Amino acid sequence: MKAWEASAAIEWLVEMGADEIIGSEPVNRLILPPPAAKAPEAARPAAPAIVRPSTIIAQYSNGALAPNSGAHDSTAMAAECSTLAEIEQALMRFDACPLKKTATNLCFADGNPEAQVMLIGEAPGRDEDIQGKPFVGRSGQLLDRMLAAIGLSRHGHTPEESVYISNVIFWRPPGNRTPTDQETLMCLPFVRRAIEIKRPRLLVCLGATPTQRLIGRSEGILKLRGSWFDFSSGGATIPLLATLHPAYLLRQPAQKRLAWRDFLSLKQKLKADAH
Ligand code: URA
Repeated sequence: MKAWEASAAIEWLVEMGADEIIGSEPVNRLILPPPAAKAPEAARPAAPAIVRPSTIIAQYSNGALAPNSGAHDSTAMAAECSTLAEIEQALMRFDACPLKKTATNLCFADGNPEAQVMLIGEAPGRDEDIQGKPFVGRSGQLLDRMLAAIGLSRHGHTPEESVYISNVIFWRPPGNRTPTDQETLMCLPFVRRAIEIKRPRLLVCLGATPTQRLIGRSEGILKLRGSWFDFSSGGATIPLLATLHPAYLLRQPAQKRLAWRDFLSLKQKLKADAH
């Protein structure tokens, strides 16, 4: 291949969304594998019963199902943690999530652990993966400005003026692809435990993924946003506000007016509950 051809090929890959090298040897994924020898009828395992994904999601969201077992059991590992630092350490040991293999850093949380408000996003992107902190890229900068507009900051000094930020996924999905159900569900026990330990006064979910996973609903975010839901866990019930994800607002700036309404609702709730 000539230099200009290689350069054009790289440019094309970048245009298509590739932004990291996973291996040094190219793999031709268009070559079909040879057909596997047909197993004799009797040796075939029985087909598993069909379970609707929504049922599985609801059960995981309730904490009723463990996503895996043994040394990789995120439910058991999360249950053993009694501080946020222990959750972060448990995540460093947890190796069942395939995203960990391609991510550069674990991205657990940022902000004031004493904050009254806890925000939950979806998954780290490129900048978050590099820095090991949630929401430090472009959407994070927009989020910081939106928070500042209602007097909140991840660097606030008092619990009243600060926020604590995490995600439902702790490692960057390669190329920022949408995390699979399996990846999300195996991270969920750690998120739920972090909420139980932190016990924020209010929860804010940014976008559809955290909202649907934490309240066990399947409607789209444009239906769910702006409403307060009850998040129940560990004997406590915490008001949870669903709002739009800042990355969506960067793509659809006209929708910022909806997010602004939600942030005003958050501000009002904080004020009302303070009296
Ligand atoms: N988007 C998210 O949902 N989380 C991050 O941490 C960054 C971008």
